[in-house]
Amino acid sequence: MVYNFSAGPAMLPVEVMQQAQAEFCNFNDLGVSVMELSHRSSDYIAVAAQAEQDLRDLMQIPDNYKVLFLQGGGRGQFAALAFNLMGKNAKADYIVTGQWSQSAIAEAEKVGTVRVLDGFAAASEQGPRALASEWDLDPQAAYVHYCTNETVEGVEYSFVPDTGDVPLIADMSSTILSRPIDVTKFGLIYAGAQKNIGPSGLAVVIVREDLLNQACPQTPAIMDYAAMAKSDSMLNTPPTYAWYLAGLVFKWLKREGGLEAMGKRNKAKAELLYSYVDASNFYSNNVHPDARSWMNIPFQLTDESLNEAFLAQAKAEGLLALKGHRIVGGMRASVYNAMPIEGVQALVDFMDKFAKQHA
Ligand code: PMP
Repeated sequence: MVYNFSAGPAMLPVEVMQQAQAEFCNFNDLGVSVMELSHRSSDYIAVAAQAEQDLRDLMQIPDNYKVLFLQGGGRGQFAALAFNLMGKNAKADYIVTGQWSQSAIAEAEKVGTVRVLDGFAAASEQGPRALASEWDLDPQAAYVHYCTNETVEGVEYSFVPDTGDVPLIADMSSTILSRPIDVTKFGLIYAGAQKNIGPSGLAVVIVREDLLNQACPQTPAIMDYAAMAKSDSMLNTPPTYAWYLAGLVFKWLKREGGLEAMGKRNKAKAELLYSYVDASNFYSNNVHPDARSWMNIPFQLTDESLNEAFLAQAKAEGLLALKGHRIVGGMRASVYNAMPIEGVQALVDFMDKFAKQHA
């Protein structure tokens, strides 16, 4: 048994992979692969529309939001959202909590003026800082951008920031579909697909309709939300296979009980690993307890000289891709929806065995 803890592209539900394999060469008895269907064919349009409907059902997306299936992954949206939202008012506030919220800024600065806000509260004592819940926001900003889950640092919001009348834009790449959220609190939600949705390259955008009238004139057509909404994300040839696979994942999520069930499962997985790490002197996690991610769990070995041995032994036991991001170092276990609790238990058992071997 292999458990893949990759941060993305990440493991997908095995049932989804098996279904894709079973119908790979002969989709719906058409004698061809879904990959070979024209995006204009009624067979493919049905696949695309069903995927959108299932995502709407799962996330309870209201009718005044458009759902787009676009190319260019998460980073493509760093640029697209700035082009689409800064046409009337070229300034925005960006809350920074780590690597990905920081990376989004560089694209927005090509389009308008960005104000950078520290996402962490002032330190009140020694130790990791908590997330801030109040900022000095600009009421005239076109939007406020933040990242709900920092994939690299393992920092996740357990609340939705209140930005008043200024539209809230969220990068949910590494946490979308992992627990229920209230879509109505957001102007726009986007996510690269390769963690909780499907194959990389695809991005899902959920955008409130009233925000579709403020694009910069130079917005490239394939990034233009209004044009994409009008053409059902088929202005150009969409990433048809990735969209189909996303649809299989959405069906799987529905069968598994939807986002309520996912939330419970993900909470239990995270608690299992954090509680083991906290009780150990051999491992540590230095994220504030209120900001710990359910999806990406970094941990350090107290004796860093054991890192390579840890990774090699873990891999030999079928626990893959545990190396932490180079910025943070140490280890990172990404435990997206497709990771069963058995995988987290196997990791904890291995960590305990390794710690005892090197005590
Ligand atoms: N945002 C977040 C939170 C991410 O984790 C990632 C990728 N790891 C990105 C954006 C960028 O996504 P992509 O590589 O698809 O452009």
